[in-house]
Amino acid sequence: MIPISKPILGEEEEAAVLEVLRSGILTKGKKVEEFENSFAEFVGCRYGVATTSGTMALILALLASGIKEGDEIITTPFSFIATANSCLCIHSRPVFVDIEEDSFNIDPSKIEEKITPRTKAIIVVHLFGKPCQMTKILKICQKNKLILIEDACQAHGAKFGGRLVGSFGTGCFSFYATKNMTTGEGGMITTDSSVLADKIRLLRNHGEENQYYSSFLGYNFRLTDIQATIGIEQLKKLNKFNRIRRENAWYLSRQLGKIRGIVLPEVRADLGHVFHQFTIRVTNEFPVSRNQLLNILQESEIDAKIYYPLPIHRQELYRKLGYRDSLPVVEKTVGEVLSLPIHPQVTRNDLDKIILVIKRAATGKV
Ligand SMILES: *Cc1c(COP(=O)(O)O)cnc(C)c1O
Repeated sequence: MIPISKPILGEEEEAAVLEVLRSGILTKGKKVEEFENSFAEFVGCRYGVATTSGTMALILALLASGIKEGDEIITTPFSFIATANSCLCIHSRPVFVDIEEDSFNIDPSKIEEKITPRTKAIIVVHLFGKPCQMTKILKICQKNKLILIEDACQAHGAKFGGRLVGSFGTGCFSFYATKNMTTGEGGMITTDSSVLADKIRLLRNHGEENQYYSSFLGYNFRLTDIQATIGIEQLKKLNKFNRIRRENAWYLSRQLGKIRGIVLPEVRADLGHVFHQFTIRVTNEFPVSRNQLLNILQESEIDAKIYYPLPIHRQELYRKLGYRDSLPVVEKTVGEVLSLPIHPQVTRNDLDKIILVIKRAATGKV
């Protein structure tokens, strides 16, 4: 099976983990700090605060920004559910804005109509590694005095206008095993604000300003040094990983060329896309349905996947909460999308096999 994702862990990670184990300092040590500093520097921010997951990065970013019960947060319905759930976890209300058909990201032209006096923040998601339209989004945030949070959990190293994502607003990253770089589980918040960074550090550690003296409610959401040391090594390799992802995406694009009923993602170098996923759309002009193509690929031992089969506002959880939005673009999109393996361990041979299977399906003789 050609998997849809597979982490690359080498001798460097092994040696680094052994070093931490032998040091006996498994958590609250120097490796976490080193990882935070190098990641912040990479993103182009002053501060990085490591945490246990991307989900926790989002929750801590919201809490530290002063988001409270009943506040509204504008976001996209087309993401991993953690994006919107982070709002529910702190009793605020995600408000969904439809997406752009070509980029799969939040449609900036539809944001302002959803802003109310209760709106406090926007969480944009750079989905599949493609940056959102940050110039337009920054303008909307400034005009309406909204806090900007970036869910960059799929976009480590992605750039908009030469600037890395996660540096426009409060950046939230995940290092889950399937992401462009990993620590197994893990997350990071990036910011230029020392006030915000300090607040997040306190929330992460029981609100302890001094050990065993707490002035407000906090939690334990600390990353361990074992994970941090893996992150330090992964970060050194991230640009190379992303380069291979891009090369694989370009190769797939060139070879798939113009097939009726297949809409390819844009692959221009200046898009700053890091191809967490290579997601095509299979329209009804293709001779077989999207689900049939998925089955054909699966039967050929290609682990293509549907990210995501159901928009967040249509999930049972959200239906029970009273969400009844009608968002036509995302509702059509979920029936068409199909992600193909392009991670750095996918070989040229693997890509050729994927291309062959899709081209054969395109003839309709299956
Ligand atoms: C992975 C992911 C998250 C959550 O990260 P975890 O580390 O799994 O908690 C949030 N948002 C998006 C878009 C993601 O892809």
